[in-house]
Amino acid sequence: MEALASGEKSRMLFERAKELFPGSVNSPVRAAVKPYPFYVERGEGAYLYTVDGARIVDLVLAYGPLILGHKHPRVLEAIEEALARGWLYGAPGEAEVLLAEKILGYVKKGGMIRFVNSGTEATMTAIRLARGYTGRDLILKFDGCYHGSHDAVLVAAGSAAAHYGVPTSAGVPEAVARLTLVSPYNDVEALERVFADYGDRIAGVIVEPVIANAGVIPPRREFLTALQRLSRESGALLILDEVVTGFRLGLEGAQGYFNIEGDIIVLGKIIGGGFPVGAVAGSREVMSLLTPQGKVFNAGTFNAHPITMAAGLATLKALEEEPVYRVSREAAKALEEAASEVLDRTGLPYTINRVESMMQLFIGVEEVSNAAQARKADQKLYVKLHEEMLRRGVFIAPSNLEAVFTGLPHQSEALEIAVEVLRNSLKTVL
Ligand code: PLP
Repeated sequence: MEALASGEKSRMLFERAKELFPGSVNSPVRAAVKPYPFYVERGEGAYLYTVDGARIVDLVLAYGPLILGHKHPRVLEAIEEALARGWLYGAPGEAEVLLAEKILGYVKKGGMIRFVNSGTEATMTAIRLARGYTGRDLILKFDGCYHGSHDAVLVAAGSAAAHYGVPTSAGVPEAVARLTLVSPYNDVEALERVFADYGDRIAGVIVEPVIANAGVIPPRREFLTALQRLSRESGALLILDEVVTGFRLGLEGAQGYFNIEGDIIVLGKIIGGGFPVGAVAGSREVMSLLTPQGKVFNAGTFNAHPITMAAGLATLKALEEEPVYRVSREAAKALEEAASEVLDRTGLPYTINRVESMMQLFIGVEEVSNAAQARKADQKLYVKLHEEMLRRGVFIAPSNLEAVFTGLPHQSEALEIAVEVLRNSLKTVL
């Protein structure tokens, strides 16, 4: 019998962690693995190895960054080479120039970029830039989109119509939340109404071009077109939050995939190769407002960290030269087909949303094109599926409001295991 992901050693660490960390963890979703998280000793390729001696196929990939899998040799080599020279200088280095040139070549030709340390910092800076550029205060976001953990985006609204947001976290002042409008995703009529009512006061519209934080929800073509048109007409900046989709849907991210263009592009996750990162990219005109050139403040001790830059550069080179997009797309497709095959035989309504290498399964609902529909899916059954798969050695996120991610190492044996375990686990829990 193979070891379970979380055994005695994980349990003992968890007991200590409960005393140390609120809710036992340092980021909430990690606590959703029950009865306690598995603790990881190391990762390699498609696999995580737990402190209890289990090997599990990882379909979470650190919630998106590790599209090359764990410990990809060329990323490891780049980091080791950079580390051997030192790791933090408080002064610029070559790697940040090389990485910036590469990224801008794909997402904002002729534009500029600022590296920060997380997606959260990046969306915060993007919003500040939009406000600084337009001189307006309001931000528009969409129900179910997640943009990190700062006040302006921890806001949601209660009903289907667009209206002023209310805080979704204690500690976010109502006065701040009232500056964030919330509208349903994929709803062009609601979008038109918000712009009719508030258009001349909106500084920026921030959107996940594919939602990855209410499960996976693709955008409707007409929604993207309307977003672009209405923000242009009203003078608001369109902020594409590509923290997940950037370099995942292809080298040009969602912009290339859907043939759209954002005024500000927010990046994170993949561009840091597994190290803490975020980035804001935009036109020269917009970006030159950032300090020290302009008056919109941003700074960071760790901005453009040399190890992150080295890992990011190696990752992007691998994305250019290795068949990452084909392999990860095919892996996700194989998982989708296996799940459909089992579910079709049950007659249960279900939806699988997949865009390239990101996907999610919603059981009990015919369609998921917004967050309200995603929340109606059978969460309990999904959690059972997650538990059953983990018991059999495959890790999918513990909530169907997260995404399943595939990557370069999901081929051969790892993919066969993942597909087989998904199929058998579904049969068990349905
Ligand atoms: N934007 C999106 C779309 C995200 O999915 C996330 C994190 O999952 C963030 C922003 C925040 O990024 P970070 O966790 O690096 O702060």
